Amino acid sequence: MACTGRFAPSPTGELHLGNLRTALASWLSARARGGRWIIRMEDVDTARCRSSLGDAQLRDLAMLGMESDGPVLWQSRRGGSYQAALQRLFGQGGLYPCICTRKDLAAMASAPHGEDGLRAYPGTCRHRPLPFLRPDALRFRVPEGAVAWDDLLLGPQDDDPALLTGDPLLHRRDGCYAYHLAVVVDDGEQGVDEIVRGQDLRGVTATQVRLQEALGLPRPAYAHLGLVTAPDGSRLGKRDGALGLAMLAHKGIGPELVVGWLGWSLGCLERPEPAAAGDLVAGFRWDRVPPGPVAVPAAWT
Ligand SMILES: [Zn+2]
Repeated sequence: MACTGRFAPSPTGELHLGNLRTALASWLSARARGGRWIIRMEDVDTARCRSSLGDAQLRDLAMLGMESDGPVLWQSRRGGSYQAALQRLFGQGGLYPCICTRKDLAAMASAPHGEDGLRAYPGTCRHRPLPFLRPDALRFRVPEGAVAWDDLLLGPQDDDPALLTGDPLLHRRDGCYAYHLAVVVDDGEQGVDEIVRGQDLRGVTATQVRLQEALGLPRPAYAHLGLVTAPDGSRLGKRDGALGLAMLAHKGIGPELVVGWLGWSLGCLERPEPAAAGDLVAGFRWDRVPPGPVAVPAAWT
C-alpha cells in the first residue's frame, strides 16, 4: 500500500498556527515520500464538535494548498468500526468497566502527573468483572512494560503507559467512543503509516501503541512537533488572539506569507518569504525540522 500521512483535527474551533504547522508538516512529509495525505475529523465528542467548524477548517487547509486525497472521514459516523474493535478487546479480556466519577478521578491527586500534564488512571476498577460487553464506561487493561519507539523528530523514546495515562477510557458512559480507540482504529483502517502531531500528545503514544498491538494493527512512525508559542516563548493564550487565518488576514498577512513562515519554521526555507505549499516539498526533511518550540512573530499577535 502507498504510504499515507494524515491530519486529524477536532472540529471544536478555528485552526490556529500550531494546528496549521502540524498539518503542513504532515502534508510535506507525505508529499516528499510520494504518498497520500488524508484529513480526518476527530468528532467523536459530539457535545463539543460542530460539522460547520470542521467545514471551516477544511476551507482553511485548502486555502493553504492542502486537500485530502480521498473523502474526509468523520469519526462520528464510524461507530460500527469502533464497536467491532471493542468486541475484539472484550474477547481478549482486555476491557473492564470503570465506575469512577469525575469527582473520584479528580480526587486521585496523588496519581503521578506525566511530563505532558497527563494524570494516570491508577487502576481502581481493574478488578471489576465484565461478563458481557455493555454500553458503559470501559477501560483498556494496558499491558505492563515500557514502549520504545524512534521518533522522527525526538529520536529514541521510552515510555511506560502505566505512568503516563494508566488504563485509557475507550468508551464513555454517555455513549461516546473515546479518543484513543477512535484514533488507533482509524489510523489502522486508513493505512496511516506516519503520524505527525504536537508534542503535547507525545505522552499518549505508548498507550496507543499498546492498543494497536492488542488490535493487531501495524505501528506507524511518529513525529512529535514542538509547539508554536507566543513571541516571548510562553504558551499561546487568549491574550494572543486566536491566531487563525481569519485574524491574520485581517492584519494583512495572507496565506502565502503564512505558508512561507510555517515552511521556514519547518526548515524548508532560508527565511520566511511568501510561498505555496508545493514549493516547500523539495526542501522538506525531518532532520532539518527543529525539534523545539517555535515563537510566532511579534507582529502577528
Ligand atoms: Zn474506575
